[in-house]
Amino acid sequence: NKDINYIYDIFLNQYNNPNMVIRDIKVLQQAIHRSGKRMRIIAKPTDTNEAVVEKDIHPRPPPLKSQLKPRPPVVTVMGHIDHGKTTLLDALRNSRVVDQEFGGITQHIGAFSVSLNSGAQITFLDTPGHAAFSAMRSRGANLTDIVVLVVAADDGVMEQTVESIKMARHAKVPILVAINKIDSPKADLARTEKMLVEVGIQVENLGGDVQAIPISALKRQNLDQLTEALVLQADLLEIGADPTGPVEAVVVESKVHPFRGKLCTVVIQRGTLKKGDILVAGTSMAKVRALKNDAGKVLHTVSPGYPVEIEGWKELPSAGEQVLQVGTEKRAREVLKFREEEESQMKMKSDAEVIAEKEQQHEVEYKEKLALKRQLGRYKVKREGPRKPEISKDDDGPPSLNIIIKADVDGTLEAILDTIDTYDSQDCKMELVHYGVGSISENDIELAETFQGIIYAFNVEVPPNLKESIKTTSIKHFNVIYKLVDDIKEEINARLPAKE
Ligand code: GDP
Repeated sequence: NKDINYIYDIFLNQYNNPNMVIRDIKVLQQAIHRSGKRMRIIAKPTDTNEAVVEKDIHPRPPPLKSQLKPRPPVVTVMGHIDHGKTTLLDALRNSRVVDQEFGGITQHIGAFSVSLNSGAQITFLDTPGHAAFSAMRSRGANLTDIVVLVVAADDGVMEQTVESIKMARHAKVPILVAINKIDSPKADLARTEKMLVEVGIQVENLGGDVQAIPISALKRQNLDQLTEALVLQADLLEIGADPTGPVEAVVVESKVHPFRGKLCTVVIQRGTLKKGDILVAGTSMAKVRALKNDAGKVLHTVSPGYPVEIEGWKELPSAGEQVLQVGTEKRAREVLKFREEEESQMKMKSDAEVIAEKEQQHEVEYKEKLALKRQLGRYKVKREGPRKPEISKDDDGPPSLNIIIKADVDGTLEAILDTIDTYDSQDCKMELVHYGVGSISENDIELAETFQGIIYAFNVEVPPNLKESIKTTSIKHFNVIYKLVDDIKEEINARLPAKE
């Protein structure tokens, strides 16, 4: 097989040893990765019969410089609210529609391309504002090549202007400034430029290297200058992509259409997309049924840098998710199955963490509650000297059961106390003489003997040196709460006068 030989070559190239045996599956995976071929490894390790399969799919390693072809830059418009981002995007979209043959009705699909008179192309993401930008970034998608920072000349640099600058800088995306609303009577270009410099944007007019184009989005003034500046910037960046091999793209937006089903707009990053291709994005897959641009025009192939709306998704992918092409639908289903399993495992893990945290919190609360109960003297222990059992057998009053409870931890003790707390019968009085955490002490035995009580020991022992001193006291051991409580109930029943 040609592919296998190719991968073997890469492998040899790296290790330079024709006698080397591939023992580590990872080494082979790396070689395949480097080759850019989409292959699965099905190997039988010598000690098991289980096949080892590369279960997930990943983007290819970056292409070589020689493989790059020019592509349109992808531009995001950012800036303070009301400074004119939406107006600018509308103006750019509409300026284009006039020149094009199709009907002139465009739809918001999340991105659109503009053809310039020079023949150059620019792709704009048309969800303005930094929410969309950061949603993408949070998924690791670095789609934007250039940020157009819109600053209204009548308002100057505002809070969100500064935030946008920070985001662009953080993402290492170059900024181009559009000073908007120059038609406004209150426009002050010089002041706006000065403000920009103050926040670190060195505009060209003031000796810096950031292009700042004065425009009016509303009056459509200087839009050509803005787009030309973008092309210039793109040239400086030497933007390029590899249009061959399996497709890689990023989801910009997705939605459900009443007739066309689940749609999602992607911008192609690598490879050339066509109808019939099989894609996976997160835990959704598509067999591409139709490709359309924002003017509803059917496209047959889409190359890097261009946006396209894809029909044929089984589930809706999310914005920022990576789209990868696979060979067959079977392979796509395998990848999804693997990813779903991973996802549910991650969820289980995080659920377990939440539960552990809650349990810990619970324990703290228990301790606090117990301390409070002690303070309030709800279970006031009459420790000062022995006292007489409240009811003796020759009394006329109801019989009573005197108990002492010792448990290994506060939490269990509290649970036992809570349960017996609900007991309130007049037929047999239950008296909690003493309770505590820790092993049985001399004091416990003394109390029990004085009050003719029963010691309930939960997960605690009688120290060997005390075993001798136990005379009449009954000590009952338990390690299950309900069994302990059941036993108390039985003791109470045994004391109740027989019914006639
Ligand atoms: P966004 O919040 O940044 O998307 O701002 P919009 O595009 O919604 O614009 C806010 C307001 O500014 C709207 O009333 C626009 O008509 C107005 N506006 C936008 N661009 C210009 C412009 O170039 N000149 C003037 N005078 N007003 C503009």
